[in-house]
Parts: sequence; structure tokens; C-alpha cells
Amino acid sequence: MTDIAHNIRVLKEQIPASVKIVAVSKTKPVNDILTAYEAGQRIFGENRVQELLAKKDQLPSDISWHLIGHLQTNKVKQIIPFVSLIHSIDSFRLLTAVNNEAVKTGRVVNCLLQFHIASEETKFGFDESEASEMLESSSFKELKNVRICGVMGMATLTDDQKAVGKEFGNLRVIFNNLKDKYFRDNAGFSELSMGMSGDFKTAINEGSTMVRIGSLIFGERLNR
Ligand SMILES: *Cc1c(COP(=O)(O)O)cnc(C)c1O
Repeated sequence: MTDIAHNIRVLKEQIPASVKIVAVSKTKPVNDILTAYEAGQRIFGENRVQELLAKKDQLPSDISWHLIGHLQTNKVKQIIPFVSLIHSIDSFRLLTAVNNEAVKTGRVVNCLLQFHIASEETKFGFDESEASEMLESSSFKELKNVRICGVMGMATLTDDQKAVGKEFGNLRVIFNNLKDKYFRDNAGFSELSMGMSGDFKTAINEGSTMVRIGSLIFGERLNR
């Protein structure tokens, strides 16, 4: 059996206190999340809206829920009233949808821009020039109900930690460039969400401020 509380303790010994741990609970039952909660974990990440909604109502209300997976514009509305951070903004269209729903609820919603840093074709995300174009546009400046808190990226799925480190390094450079160009006086632009169970140490070496850990906490998943 997976000892979730033990796994969290072990992780905390390996991760500096300044780095936030998002416990990725996708596919895992509510009871597992509650066990992690009782061990002190408060930030949880899910990648599917329906699953997140179903679990959330059965769990304590002081959990910070992060949406970490690809988000469709037609699913945005349901998470806006409560979501703490959306890691996966990968288009201006999606950011606009988030803003428009946030206006309706009177919230300012925290968002990360997802960048495509892996060599795989399938991962979602901006490249630096696309993001710059968006951040410079007047239509972006009209979005008053979203707060861009930083960037997120997923490295190539490989055991080659040197290659992974290079990709995370690229993301750190993008983060620093954007900070210099568009968020210089904005202390809120501070998060570099990178690192998962297989590569979190590499990510932290490259400057990660937020790691998203699933299987090392909850045990292996069958898929996703
Ligand atoms: C599933 C997932 C994770 C966690 O993966 P593990 O390898 O189980 O730690 C992190 N980030 C995203 C975007 C995910 O979909």
C-alpha cells in the first residue's frame, strides 16, 4: 500500500521550503487526497475539470485547487469561482475566456503561461515570440481580471536528465526575459512551475519555484 503521509515527508526533506509542492491527484480517489490533506498538504492539482469538480465538493474548503492540464474554453466557467491557479494557459483565446468569466464573478484569477519546451510534438504551449506578441498587444492589456503569475512547462519524457535540464534552463531564460520586458515592476510574476516526479530535482536545480508531483506521493497511476 502507498503510504501517502510518508511520501510527503520524504519529499519535503528533498525539496527546499521555498519551493511549493502541488500534489497531483488526478485519477486518485478523494480518500487519498484527504490523507495527504491530513498530512498537511494544501495545494492539489488536477488536469480534468469534471474530475476536479466532483472531488472538490467532498473535500475541505481550504484546499487550493490548481488546474494543471489542457483547458478547453467551454470548461472555463465551472472552475473560475474557486480555482487558485491555472497552470495551462496556452492561447490568448483561452486567457480571454478566463478573463471574461472572472469578470462575471468579480475575481482576479491567477494564471501561468504554458510554454512548449519539450522535443515531443504533442505538448501544448506558447513559444517565446508568441507570448511576447500577446503580452505587447493592446487586447492583452484590456484583460483586467487575470493575473499572470509566471510560466509553466513540461520537459521531454526521458531518463536523460541532462537533456531535461537544458529544457528547464530554456524555460528559466524565457521566464527571466518576460520578467525583464513585461513584468519588471510586478512582484506577482514570480512562479516557475516545472518538475514532476521523475525530474523535480533537475527542475529545482534550474530554478523551479513550484513542482507538480503525482506518482511519488500517491503511487503509480494506470494512465494519465
Ligand atoms: C500528471 C501530471 C503531473 C504529475 O506527474 P507525475 O509524474 O505523476 O509526478 C505534473 N504535471 C502535469 C501537467 C501532469 O499532467
